[in-house]
Amino acid sequence: MARPKKCRWVKMEPGATFFKPQGVPLAGLEQAVITVDEMEAMRLSDYLGLSQEEVAKQMQVSRPTVTRMLARAHRTVADALAHGKAIRIEGGDYRLVGQFLECRFCGHREAALTAEGAAPQTCSKCHSQNFGQLFLDKTHK
Ligand SMILES: [Zn+2]
Repeated sequence: MARPKKCRWVKMEPGATFFKPQGVPLAGLEQAVITVDEMEAMRLSDYLGLSQEEVAKQMQVSRPTVTRMLARAHRTVADALAHGKAIRIEGGDYRLVGQFLECRFCGHREAALTAEGAAPQTCSKCHSQNFGQLFLDKTHK
């Protein structure tokens, strides 16, 4: 019996979703795919240096799940680098965290809720209070 997959919480969607070796047409390349939630686990763990416990807490999954996601992501990236494959980041089971506020003054975006659960009153970049709601809350399946 298939267990329902738990939704993972992702703070940001990666800007680029495709990486490929230079000078090779995409049509002739094999593609290695990592999911957006795996990418987020890697960003939090490998780039920001959070412990697996902290990553699990942020993404609201168990620590063994984080271990599995990281193992799969690392293997996929290593495979792509070792064999000259393109890397595609897409899909997965995740939900962007909350809503975002956009500063009408400088365009800076931040989460509508801070870690303490309160909405920020001023832009953390330019200190303007001219925040507008931006709805980026979407569920991906
Ligand atoms: Zn601002």
